[in-house]
Amino acid sequence: MILAAPAFIAYLAAAVLFILGIRRLRSPETARSGNSISAFGMLIALGTTFFINGVLSLPEILAGIIIGGSIGAVSAQKVKMTAMPQMVAAFNGVGGGAAALVALSEFYRTDALGSGNEGLVAAITSVLSILIGSVSFAGSVIAFSKLQELFFTGSVSFPLQKALNAALAVVVIIVGANAISNGAFLPFLSPVASIVIVLFVSLALGVLLVVPIGGADMPIVISLLNAFTGMAAAMSGFVLANNVLIISGTLVGASGTILTRLMSSSLGRPLGKILFASVSGAPKKKEDEEEKPVNSVGPDDVAALLNYEADKVIMVPGYGLAVAQAQGAMAELMNVLESKGKEVKFAIHPVAGRMPGHMNVLLAEADVPYDKLYDMEDINDEFAETDVVIVVGANDVVNPAANDPEQDSPISGMPVLNVDQAQHVVFIKRSLSPGFAGVDNPLFYDQEKTMMLFSDAKQGLQDVISAVKSG
Ligand code: NDP
Repeated sequence: MILAAPAFIAYLAAAVLFILGIRRLRSPETARSGNSISAFGMLIALGTTFFINGVLSLPEILAGIIIGGSIGAVSAQKVKMTAMPQMVAAFNGVGGGAAALVALSEFYRTDALGSGNEGLVAAITSVLSILIGSVSFAGSVIAFSKLQELFFTGSVSFPLQKALNAALAVVVIIVGANAISNGAFLPFLSPVASIVIVLFVSLALGVLLVVPIGGADMPIVISLLNAFTGMAAAMSGFVLANNVLIISGTLVGASGTILTRLMSSSLGRPLGKILFASVSGAPKKKEDEEEKPVNSVGPDDVAALLNYEADKVIMVPGYGLAVAQAQGAMAELMNVLESKGKEVKFAIHPVAGRMPGHMNVLLAEADVPYDKLYDMEDINDEFAETDVVIVVGANDVVNPAANDPEQDSPISGMPVLNVDQAQHVVFIKRSLSPGFAGVDNPLFYDQEKTMMLFSDAKQGLQDVISAVKSG
């Protein structure tokens, strides 16, 4: 497709805005404006496609904008921060599915996309778009269901699962090659029939790849599926000869791949292990196992510890803080402690909460200065010289069981915050329930070091604040 100059310039402007926007997402301080810049770029790209290229009629365009825009606007307002990963998985799946359907319809419309080099490129990219987009769609549906705890929760595996995956991959390669070569490999199967088979087998592959993956690895998987959707969109861009789709798809694919690699290395979970090795479930508590004693305390005990034994305090927020919307109370405790001359820092684990950056966003909302938020690798050496660590609504990210070579659990090998090295640890949570990965925390039972304040996060923090003030 040869673009008219205004359309080309508009697409170029949109692509530049996407790149600038993504660059600004690197820091919480500039992330909001990065988001707006990228959204503006998307508006230009959509407007150009709809109005300059005249792809669709005006009523169709308006219907698309109203339906899509309403779903996006309502979701952004209504969906809670804690459910954001599910939303990312759902939107991501829709993107992958759309890329696959665009490639499929284009393949069908142009009858295997013509001949010559252009036709060959379009045929290859169609097959890749359908393969990657379908895997991303089906995988995202399963990821959504796991995170929403609907079905396939936990790690689901069955005998010969890997052999089945390998067999399906071989089917995709053979049938896909048949579609590209206009039926040269399997003369009884038309190119269009071949590509439809690629679609359905890829959907099955997407399901089978994600069902065995356990909870602790979901953030990495969502990021990987996001990268897949970007790649599928870029491939669709080649099919349609649409530059802005190629550029935006490549940006999503590349940034998703970088994020996936960063997360898997910072969590100590090589991607190959996540995708191709089944992880055994968390060790289950035996029915007749006796409840182990813990040091259960009240807010006054925590306040006494903070007032009289703490010079340096590190706070660790987790998923429960987000559920209880306790970020404001955590910020207030920081202010109260600082007014009493204590040093206060916040330790942020890369997967604390239910999505990357979850805790940073919440604490920024509560006006905690960015320079008080420390990433795991920057603060982990400081716990040994810290008087009190206050862990609010977190478990997996501070669970020393992750380092236990005897255990093979969903968090084994995941680097955790070394809170067990501090002088004292206070947990504020409602019970002894484990976290998302379902792994019990030995630190709960260390009565010398650990105080358990059983409470809702917000209420518990408010009670501690009052007690510290009056102490
Ligand atoms: P966890 O899920 O390990 O623990 C959360 C704790 O919060 C629970 O033990 C629960 O205990 C407590 N809690 C729940 N509600 C409240 C409340 N109202 N008040 C006080 N406490 C509450 O959270 P972490 O942040 O430590 O770990 C995150 C986990 O989520 C990791 O396994 C991570 O891999 C996974 N994950 C992370 C994603 C990300 O990108 N960040 C995405 C998807 C999954 P109790 O019921 O006793 O109160």
